[in-house]
Parts: sequence; C-alpha cells; structure tokens
Amino acid sequence: MEESTQIQDNLAFVHTEIRSACLLAGRPEDSVRLLLATKTVEPERIRMAIAAGETLIGENKVQEYQQKADALADLNCERHFIGHLQTNKVKDILKYVTCIQSVDRITLAEKLQSQLENLDRELDIYIQINTSGEQSKSGAAPEEALRLMEHLTALPRLKVKGLMTIGLFSDNEVLVRKSYALLRTFRDKGLEQGLLPGGPLELSMGMSGDLNWAIQEGSTMVRVGSAVFGKRNYH
Ligand SMILES: *Cc1c(COP(=O)(O)O)cnc(C)c1O
Repeated sequence: MEESTQIQDNLAFVHTEIRSACLLAGRPEDSVRLLLATKTVEPERIRMAIAAGETLIGENKVQEYQQKADALADLNCERHFIGHLQTNKVKDILKYVTCIQSVDRITLAEKLQSQLENLDRELDIYIQINTSGEQSKSGAAPEEALRLMEHLTALPRLKVKGLMTIGLFSDNEVLVRKSYALLRTFRDKGLEQGLLPGGPLELSMGMSGDLNWAIQEGSTMVRVGSAVFGKRNYH
C-alpha cells in the first residue's frame, strides 16, 4: 500500500476510535482534538498527515524540531512541544512552537518567563503532572503540582491553557484510568482554588494504546504517534 494511503487509513481509524470513545462517554464527537506525536517521523510523512486534514503536531526533542524545521516550514499546522525541556534549550524551542505542554517545574517556568520578556511575547503552556508515580516519567510530582500552579499565576507571559500527563504504562484499565482521573482532579482543584484561569482548559492525555480510557476520564486532546505513523524506528 502506498504510504500516504496507509497514513490516511490509520488516521480514519484513529478518528473513528476517538468518536466511539466520545459516544461511550456521552460527550460530543468533536470534544477531543488529535495531536500527532511526530518524534522520529520523517517530514514527508508528517506532510502526508497534514495533507489528510490534520492540524496539530508535537515533537519531543528540541534538536529534532531544529532538524525538521526547514522541511516543515510551509506546513499549515499548529506546533506544540511535548517532551522534557531543559532550561538551556528554552531559547531555541521558542522559535518553533506556540505551546509547550511540558512545563513541570518552577525553574523552567521562570526561564520561559524571562525569555518571553526578552522577546516581548506570550506563550501558551500546559502544566505537566506525573500521575503515574513512575520515576522515569517527567512531570511535576502530584505533591508539587498546586505549588507550581500557584507560582505560574505570577508569571504573566505564560498563559496556562491546560494540563498534560503521560499516563501509567500498563494494560490494567483501572490503574490507567486512575492516573488520568488524577489529572482531571488537579484541573478541578486548581480551578476551585483560583490557581487556574477560567475558560476552557485542555486535558492532554491518552496515546495510541489507551486513548479510549483517557477520553472516558475527560481527555480533550489525545497525542497519537504509532497508531498513525506505525512503529517507531530509533536510530
Ligand atoms: C510518543 C509520545 C506520544 C505518542 O505515543 P504513541 O504510543 O506512539 O501514540 C504521546 N505523548 C508523548 C509525550 C510522547 O512522547
């Protein structure tokens, strides 16, 4: 099968999965947005997905954005950053994205604020929380999350638009859903305590293998890579 046809088929399948999950959850079919997680995916293949109607991509590594930037420059899509971000890469990533979903610590938030002041611009961010308890995953620890939210209220260049998590990696539905429910709880607590702005807040959660469960727990954005582009080749 031609590669672009394969990607179109995969996208149709993922959109059907999203719609069914929304139906099951009693939510509107269009209440979940698809972000394409494009790490390791060649620019030509990303282009095929955008040509098929997708509007949002996310990369994990600053260096990879830099390498792909020219090849993707003319693409009409939104670009987010979804990987762990080192403070010394802040300046570079701001050239490429309109939203950073992985703000997980005060030092990073402050670095972003000061760079944005220099550039005289603002940036959409999501607060990333580690809801799985797995040490290897980035994200603010749950016991730090409210403090981070509070700190962010004092950094006016950072516009908090949502929360993000990488759920528990497991096939145990109860445990995976529990980790996603925890992110939703933080959104509710943050709103209750006046630490998050009103207006719609995204819950960025769910990937190829568990997007249905994430949507049952309130996800408004799923980040999908392998279900669209196939298994990743790390070189
Ligand atoms: C790779 C990645 C995804 C997508 O993972 P798949 O299982 O390939 O869908 C989602 N979120 C983040 C942060 C990722 O790094």
